[in-house]
Amino acid sequence: MELVCLDLEGVLIPEIWIAFAEKTGIEALKKTTRDEPDYDVLMQYRLQILRDNNLKLSDIQDVIATLEPLPGAKAFVDWLNENFQVIILSDTFYEFSAPLMKQLGWPTLFCHRLETDTDGMVVNYHLRQKDPKRASIKALHSLNYTIFAAGDSYNDTTMLSEADVGFLFHAPANVKAEFPQFQAVDEYDDLKRLIANASSRDIKL
Ligand SMILES: [Mg+2]
Repeated sequence: MELVCLDLEGVLIPEIWIAFAEKTGIEALKKTTRDEPDYDVLMQYRLQILRDNNLKLSDIQDVIATLEPLPGAKAFVDWLNENFQVIILSDTFYEFSAPLMKQLGWPTLFCHRLETDTDGMVVNYHLRQKDPKRASIKALHSLNYTIFAAGDSYNDTTMLSEADVGFLFHAPANVKAEFPQFQAVDEYDDLKRLIANASSRDIKL
């Protein structure tokens, strides 16, 4: 049995925090893990900015609801669903991703949770587990699935290593250079071809 695991941001949808920063004009929210490698420091900084701007979860979701999946992403997910079992492994939060997941037809998503207070302000975040993408692949392997995975960045590389075959998709040049063991493509049609070739079955493109 074959299963495809995909990263979400950068692969099927835009980077949510960047897109949110652009929509709201809050430049400070463009800081990413490349600027601040300590994820907890970065998240506490982001939550403080949301508080400073009096942005409730519902305000954030309203902005995120105006975002769209990357061009071609929905058709790609539909093709995958016809041919494989599909699970999205992401470091985003269910509360943020919901409007975009709806547009993708609600594929299965394993990610993290935000905590809100009674006023709807985001007060904390909860990571599901440590190294969640690799842990998920290990767990799925224990269920006897062969797993093909694709992602775009550093937080995907343990998932790609753990999978039976891993691909880089939309990866920046530095990630491609550091991880030459993963085939890298930038178009959904090319990723479809790689996944179909990896499959032991005869998959129609
Ligand atoms: Mg990504």
